[in-house]
Amino acid sequence: MTVGVLAVHGDFSEHRSVLASLDVESREIRTLEDLAPLTHLIIPGGESTVMGGFLERTGMGKRIQKRVAEGSLAVFGTCAGAILLTKKITGKLPPHSLKLLDATIERNAYGTQHQSFEASITVLVVRPKITVAFIRAPRFTKMGKSVSVLAKHNGDPILVRQGRILASTFHPEVTGETAIHALFLKL
Ligand code: GLN
Repeated sequence: MTVGVLAVHGDFSEHRSVLASLDVESREIRTLEDLAPLTHLIIPGGESTVMGGFLERTGMGKRIQKRVAEGSLAVFGTCAGAILLTKKITGKLPPHSLKLLDATIERNAYGTQHQSFEASITVLVVRPKITVAFIRAPRFTKMGKSVSVLAKHNGDPILVRQGRILASTFHPEVTGETAIHALFLKL
């Protein structure tokens, strides 16, 4: 297993800290060469327009799409990362998407930075409850048949899986929770 975190922008170092606390070595990914040996890639939270533009310009987006399609790469996106994985993005200024996850997601659906919050959530297959952060979070509004919902908050899907793609509208890495990363590494 070779694990990397897209490291052009956003909270990639928090993801690396969570992986380190699971005793998993990780790499910072900035180029196509960095991407090549990976079995697992995390796309962090941050600004989806910035990371989406980077993935588009560098050809990394196309490469990720190809690797996921052939089944050689598992991906986990948190918040902005989840937006970038999702097929259809609604809300202002939708970024370039990788269109891998068969769902619709609305950017900044909970409002501005002031409406950011932490919540204790229950995740299927993960016990006990974990505390995670929602920061200018998106909301999944539609889901394809191949997508399963692993956690909800106030009725909204917040953690979803489609094959080897995992996406959360929240940040487990901000509160230092390891359970979701452990789940991802099993994909
Ligand atoms: N609102 C941001 C976006 O749309 C995501 C915020 C985050 O990753 N915490 O890109």
